[in-house]
Amino acid sequence: MVVEQQLRAYVDYLRDMGIYDLYRREDPKVMLPEGLKERLAVARPAAPVVRSAAATQAVAAQGVGARTSVAASAAAAGAARMVSVAREAVPTAVDPEWREVESSMPKPPSLDAVGVVPVERLAAGERAVALQAVREDIGECTRCPLAYAGRRNIVFGDGDPNARLMFVGEGPGADEDETGVPFVGKAGQLLNNMITAMGLKREEVYIANIVKCRPPANRVPEFVEATTCSQFLARQIDVVRPEVIVALGATAATYLLGVKQPLASLRGQWHSVRGAKVAVTYHPAFLLRDPRQKGEAWKDLQRVMVEMGLSAPRRAT
Ligand code: SF4
Repeated sequence: MVVEQQLRAYVDYLRDMGIYDLYRREDPKVMLPEGLKERLAVARPAAPVVRSAAATQAVAAQGVGARTSVAASAAAAGAARMVSVAREAVPTAVDPEWREVESSMPKPPSLDAVGVVPVERLAAGERAVALQAVREDIGECTRCPLAYAGRRNIVFGDGDPNARLMFVGEGPGADEDETGVPFVGKAGQLLNNMITAMGLKREEVYIANIVKCRPPANRVPEFVEATTCSQFLARQIDVVRPEVIVALGATAATYLLGVKQPLASLRGQWHSVRGAKVAVTYHPAFLLRDPRQKGEAWKDLQRVMVEMGLSAPRRAT
């Protein structure tokens, strides 16, 4: 049923984008397998959000801009790829090894491509209001297929609008979808512990994700979803202007930096996006599955601490 919902979400999205000829194309890459059209005909999305064609065009004209064009052109490929995903076991959402073998995905643009980074930083007292304005722009967003895939809440971001340090994950899970707050489940607990180990409190950092709506069954966000949604993340970064961003996992690194590289090759060096230094480490959910990598993640965080002049809290003796 989840697969049917995902497929239906893509069909609805393509229809909203004005793409009606998917079934008539002769490119074998987008031909649907025997019987799938019938399955799509009976499948229904969970809690669909309906948007008129006029509203869709208005959204496209308003500012999604070039990135939406990229997203739209990738949508057909994404829908076709769903078919092959449907036949396979859906990989775990944050498994970097899986991301490394996901070679069919186009190289995404980096978040630097969203637009020019504002020269002037907002005054500290203005940033909370500016973040609220970004949230209001998102509204009850239907800009990508995740709007049609059963989300309960848009998970915008959490933390200090004046934070020096920002964490960026992949997307909301079930707990986050339920509460509307990023990183509140078991992975969130581990992230909290990581922040504490760095000598900080969660309230002192800012936390957001590449996509703001939960992908069904916690699958990895599709290219079209991530490249459409990450414009809002870019605006959050521009408002907060953190000194350092920690990319949690391969998906966050991929769409922040616009790279298609294994996670291992991105760790241990500094990158940059939108004026902030970027460090790459494992996603907490991956560390829960493979605790042997916690030491490696701690090395990554220690480099961040040195960069920011942070000291680990003293342990009670
Ligand atoms: S994931 Fe982002 S772009 Fe897609 S519907 Fe949600 S808020 Fe909109």
